[in-house]
Amino acid sequence: MKDKKRPLSVAIDGPSGAGKSTIARMLARELGFLYVDTGALYRTIGYAVLQGGGDPADQAAVEALLPTLSIRLAQQEDGQHVFLGGEDVNGKIRTPEVSMAASRVSAFPAVRAFLLDIQRDTAKSISIIMDGRDIGTVVLPDADLKVFLTASAEVRARRRFDELAEKGTAVTYDEVLKDMTQRDYDDSHRDIAPLREAEGAVRVDSSDLTLEQSAAVIRRLVESLQPPADQT
Ligand code: C5P
Repeated sequence: MKDKKRPLSVAIDGPSGAGKSTIARMLARELGFLYVDTGALYRTIGYAVLQGGGDPADQAAVEALLPTLSIRLAQQEDGQHVFLGGEDVNGKIRTPEVSMAASRVSAFPAVRAFLLDIQRDTAKSISIIMDGRDIGTVVLPDADLKVFLTASAEVRARRRFDELAEKGTAVTYDEVLKDMTQRDYDDSHRDIAPLREAEGAVRVDSSDLTLEQSAAVIRRLVESLQPPADQT
């Protein structure tokens, strides 16, 4: 796939815990594509608000903060890093508190507009796999392949709980399930760019699949794409 003339874009959307980021990262490595985790951008804004002692639900305050933020995506050997100003925030944006703040700020149109160019610019010159909530519907509606990756709430909460427990984060399964159900609700009921299946998206349910099996399903879809027209 790497030798194609035109960069290919693969959009993977779906609720949290469906396995999007792990699967997208795995596939990107196998296919030689760049992996872009857009959730990290929303998390970085949530983190910035919390750092400043602000309330992520306060729309006016969040909007006022945006022009002061400089957010940059950098690709390093171990994958994507997000910089807030000069600070690499990768290790700080995965806490349950930041997850909730990210979900809150992501409902504000100004936040989504602020992050749109960063996301689109990344996809211009290189084949990518981008995951998020609105990649197929808003960010890259012309993506070569759109996947809606989902799983039951219980399975997703179990996966996220195991991930957090491994990192030593003190949470219970019930707390994770509650947070996840709340975030699912907020993400799919917000007025702007709600989480929904994009037109033409292929739905993949990972409830009964391992990450490797889900990745293999999507990989077959990528490989079955028609070779793009030679535009040179
Ligand atoms: O994917 P992740 O769990 O890291 O995303 C954190 C939050 O950022 C999500 O709950 C969602 O509210 C928001 N998000 C979004 N649009 C995206 C990616 C993430 O609204 N494209």
